Amino acid sequence: MKWEVVIGLETHTQLSTVSKIFSGAPTRFGAEANTQACPVDLALPGTLPVLNRGAVERAIRLGLAIGAQIAPRSVFARKNYFYPDLPKGYQISQFETPIVQGGTLSFMLEEEGRAVTKTVRLTRAHLEEDAGKSLHEDFAGMSGIDLNRAGTPLLEIVSEPDMRSAAEAVAYARELHGLVVWLGICDGNMQEGSFRCDANVSVRPHGQSEFGTRCEIKNLNSFRFLQQAIDFEVRRQIELIEDGGRVVQETRLYDPDRDETRTMRSKEDAHDYRYFPDPDLPPLAVSPEWIAHVRESLPELPAAMRSRYVREFGLTDYDAHGMTQSRAVAHYFEATLGRLGAGQSKLVANWIMGELASHLRRDGLEIEAARVSSTQLAGLLARLIDGTISGKIAKEVFQTLWERASTENDAADRIIDEKGLRQISDLGAIEKLIDELLTAYPAQLADYRSGKEKLFGFFVGQAMKATQGKANPQQLNELLRQKLRG
Ligand code: ADP
Ligand code: MG
Repeated sequence: MKWEVVIGLETHTQLSTVSKIFSGAPTRFGAEANTQACPVDLALPGTLPVLNRGAVERAIRLGLAIGAQIAPRSVFARKNYFYPDLPKGYQISQFETPIVQGGTLSFMLEEEGRAVTKTVRLTRAHLEEDAGKSLHEDFAGMSGIDLNRAGTPLLEIVSEPDMRSAAEAVAYARELHGLVVWLGICDGNMQEGSFRCDANVSVRPHGQSEFGTRCEIKNLNSFRFLQQAIDFEVRRQIELIEDGGRVVQETRLYDPDRDETRTMRSKEDAHDYRYFPDPDLPPLAVSPEWIAHVRESLPELPAAMRSRYVREFGLTDYDAHGMTQSRAVAHYFEATLGRLGAGQSKLVANWIMGELASHLRRDGLEIEAARVSSTQLAGLLARLIDGTISGKIAKEVFQTLWERASTENDAADRIIDEKGLRQISDLGAIEKLIDELLTAYPAQLADYRSGKEKLFGFFVGQAMKATQGKANPQQLNELLRQKLRG
């Protein structure tokens, strides 16, 4: 591969405040058009913005979580441009002095089958207001403007150009998404536009130190689109350069229906916006006491929780990552483990990432809505641990618990009894079964003894078939090996 990919992401997270960033109008999603826009959002003459303290507090939460500097004094500026969904003629945004500066985000991804950790530097995160929305359908040839979204608080989180593949960009975006939800500053709903990424993409020959010319792909609101848009854009730029062309810096849009990016506009520069400090808003002052207060209110952060899981429960980094995808997953994990003992951490993690995760995925559910509770899973795993059932049967019981969307008292024990799934751990019974099999398959027995050891699996299979999978696998293996030897 001759080309190196360089990516930096700008992420707009909608902050989960009840009212807007500079007005008291509600931010609820999906209301009838223009029912949530007050005179400030409509830019009526004489109105003045008043900063929402909750939005500032949420920005501080993120800043502390990523180890950034919280600016003691930051400034709101006017970013001037014309668009019908922006009645003021400017967007209020932090430009020269943002509230959050620096910081890092580490995440894990799989590379060539190995789990590796990457750290991306963050440039800044600044507060700003969202614009309204143009509606181009159903207006008899005219466009409509919905100003409900105007003034919704956004935190734009900007990374350094530290990512080197689409997979890294997606892993970064997933980690950031998990973090803002974890911190309770954003609802994370990507379909509703609460978390959207602009991907800046360039390529350069391996070994070259200067960056290539970048294009910015706007408004990617799913991880899949982020991945596909970058993949397409990288191919486009490489082909262009290899054909003797040059990448032109511009803003592009990704079209998921055609899986391609298209020119939207040529790149604007900061001076095009005539930024200047907004005279309607005094500089934002954040005291050390306020920062300390916010720090105290932070939950245990995913990174700290991961190292604790490694330390206290002996999980691998990979499993610790899996168990801290969200606070809800961590809670489920700790609740299950609490009933079984720390020694079972690996088993519990495997079941949450395996059986539970695949059932959630299949039914499109979040773990909060899991149809098997942590208490039920613990009850099931206890029977696996004490040898009452085998791993295979345990999956069957899990499936039954899930299907019945059972109540707490519909326990694994009841299903095991009801269906007669208890493992056969009676040595006498297993021995008798093996004797019967050796008599029934003399040819296979002879082949085995003359060196075809692969046939061991054949006998195990027959024994499991005869017992519907209920023979204790360990006992069966041991005894069978003895008996086959003769
Ligand atoms: P803007 O897009 O507002 O002009 P910046 O120039 O600061 O802002 O860059 C925005 C984003 O582009 C950042 O995330 C940065 O990491 C990324 N970026 C800058 N240069 C490149 C490049 N050559 N290739 C890829 N990404 C880049
Ligand atoms: Mg940009």
